[in-house]
Amino acid sequence: MFLLSDRLQSMQESATIAMAKKSRELKALGKDVISLSLGEPDFHTPDFIKHAAIEALDQNFTTYTPVPGYDDLRESISRKFKRDNKLNYSKEQIVVSTGAKQSIANLVLSLINPGDEVIIPAPYWVSYLEIVKVAEGVPVIISAGIEKDFKISGDDLQAAITDKTKLLMFSTPCNPTGSVYSKEELKDIARVLEKNPHVVAMSDEIYEHINFDGHHESLAQFDQIYNQVVTVNGVSKAWAMTGWRLGYIGAPKAIAEACDKVQGQFTSATSSITQRAAIAAMDANPLVLQDMIAAFKKRRNLVLNGLNKIPGLKVNHPEGAFYVFPNCAAYFNKSYKGKTINTADDFCMFLLEEALVACVSGEAFGDPNCFRISYAASEPTLKTAIERIEAALLQLQ
Ligand code: PMP
Ligand code: GLU
Repeated sequence: MFLLSDRLQSMQESATIAMAKKSRELKALGKDVISLSLGEPDFHTPDFIKHAAIEALDQNFTTYTPVPGYDDLRESISRKFKRDNKLNYSKEQIVVSTGAKQSIANLVLSLINPGDEVIIPAPYWVSYLEIVKVAEGVPVIISAGIEKDFKISGDDLQAAITDKTKLLMFSTPCNPTGSVYSKEELKDIARVLEKNPHVVAMSDEIYEHINFDGHHESLAQFDQIYNQVVTVNGVSKAWAMTGWRLGYIGAPKAIAEACDKVQGQFTSATSSITQRAAIAAMDANPLVLQDMIAAFKKRRNLVLNGLNKIPGLKVNHPEGAFYVFPNCAAYFNKSYKGKTINTADDFCMFLLEEALVACVSGEAFGDPNCFRISYAASEPTLKTAIERIEAALLQLQ
């Protein structure tokens, strides 16, 4: 009998992917499940990007590419950083990977030795914690509750930093909360990073374009900490390209080189065709995304209106991404059909069984009192889902 590695056994399956799998299975059994579990746009990739991929095939862009991506793709990402984020990253500072998920894994494997501390504000995206565990880093969690709009301050960060701290990992707009850090809030984080030059910050900005009430702000904009920041981004969310698999970083040159080295042994470059298509996305004016962003905003308002009418749920007011992260603790200790809801996991199982709506428990995101709804679905679907959730919760005693 073979034994799996300790590393693998300590790693949890991705809760977002597990819930999406479960709802697909139920659907295959003929159950009318509405899946609000996966963070995946329900829009199609824009035609001009698809055409660039078809052209790439016709032109035989079908071979291995340089590990960190084609030169002209990295140049177009460099222009994108300048245009959208006012950030100067030269081609040599950019590494393109098979999704932002791989960009993050490359970074953690490049920086973290066993025992190094990694600060992760909670709620956090599920994969941060598990990737750190695989690298044998020590996650140090700073909990930020709904009363703080799930965001940390510079002082919160300072209180968690020790001599062993190597990395801070966070996202803005945030998955799973939709919270967005303002320029002032980022400046406060930058103030603390400047005082702690041994700490690198990973700023995951993959939802930058899905921002409803303001302009996206990047952490690396503050000159005094520019050399401590790795900016993560990708095409999955804004450009509805989840299946194409392309993410990238802008980083200090030494970190970019390290990530290139890791990737050269693990996967090599991402797909040549995807890379050619991504050039079209990077060169496009982000104004073409306006209709999609307006649709997400309308859906957010619809979901917030519906959820705010349900007694017992404490609902945050997300300003970006396509998630809402309500607190459901008021329903703990309530029962249905002889079963008691004690945790957010139980609560999500109840919603799946009794409302046929799949959401993701906050446990895996580091907040066991909350659950995540991904509202990347049509308005009629969202309306039905909220009605079903409300009706099911009324049954609880
Ligand atoms: N970061 C965050 C915050 C995410 O929500 C996701 C979602 N998949 C990713 C990174 C990874 O994206 P991808 O690998 O599809 O580029
Ligand atoms: N990032 C998305 C989510 O949070 C996709 C799933 C995943 O990659 O974990 O649902």
